Amino acid sequence: MSTAMDRGLDYDPEFSALLDLSTSIGRDASLVQGPGGNTSLKRDGTLWIKASGAWLSQARERPIMVPVRLAPLLAALDADDPACESAAGFVIADLNPQQLRPSIETTVHAALPQRVVLHVHCVETIAWAVQADAQSRLAARLDGLAWALVPYVRPGLPLTQVMRTLISGGTTVVVLANHGLVVCGETVAAAAETLRAVVTRLKRPVRPAPKPDLAALARLCGDRGYRPAQLPAVHAVATDAQSLEIARRGSLYPDHIVFLGRGVFALGPGESLGDGLQRAQREGRGEPALVLVPGTGVLIRTAAPPAAEAIAGCLGDVLQRLNADEPIRVLSPADEDAIANWDAELYRKALARRPA
Ligand SMILES: [Zn+2]
Repeated sequence: MSTAMDRGLDYDPEFSALLDLSTSIGRDASLVQGPGGNTSLKRDGTLWIKASGAWLSQARERPIMVPVRLAPLLAALDADDPACESAAGFVIADLNPQQLRPSIETTVHAALPQRVVLHVHCVETIAWAVQADAQSRLAARLDGLAWALVPYVRPGLPLTQVMRTLISGGTTVVVLANHGLVVCGETVAAAAETLRAVVTRLKRPVRPAPKPDLAALARLCGDRGYRPAQLPAVHAVATDAQSLEIARRGSLYPDHIVFLGRGVFALGPGESLGDGLQRAQREGRGEPALVLVPGTGVLIRTAAPPAAEAIAGCLGDVLQRLNADEPIRVLSPADEDAIANWDAELYRKALARRPA
């Protein structure tokens, strides 16, 4: 089976460095969670981009990079051709024996002229990027860097087109409101250094959260197909009063909707899990991936894909960096609809259900 390695790419030290960096980014839950985030390298007219649904943490274990023809993709982007949204039509099939699909964020990578582009759902960045006054607050922290803030737009073609109006050729840092961070550079090392610098500048204090009551959670579960979450950050969503209050306002970013559904579902005071799940059905939420038990902790649906817990951990990590009196912007019902009904995301969600 032909892989990126035996096609000679491994002899390109930049490609090799990108796989190493992708692995380390993918293993850092403060930067990416589950199949989120993506990296790319432009080389000889080809954009090598992470495959949709692939995990960056597995960059050294299996082929996760898809080759895409850059010039025709850019021409399609100029023409606002909907075909560039999935970018599937621009894949170099001969070099893609696994028939991987390019990331749904491929056009973001194509639109930036630098050779190396890194996109992460960095919790420190998201904690700023959900603030209604992010522009002025980021300006104070990113001073001296060539940065831009892109207001929230649905990822894919709409986001890329808005981003293109806000960047110049020298922009190396792009904060995506209610979404994440993009950094780029001419080398893997330069892009990695910019990522490190931005994350350092955007660090926020983390509010400690009360511990979950795991015994009480286990009793609540019974045999209803739920289990207590494993990651401490997930429990913080329900045990920390400010985090819970903010979480109840709605969805903060797209991956939350894709993997956890809209907003959060919480049991009422004294409500049993069975009664809560019946209420969730009546409210049209199906079987929620997460059930928050205020003051006690969080349950995860046993059948939820592995990504669900990682994405929920991101929520907890972001919420513990937010204060309830800040001007936090949640996604509108229309924003949520656009994600929930988007074909490309349905594909990514389906992949997440497959065993690894
Ligand atoms: Zn993203």
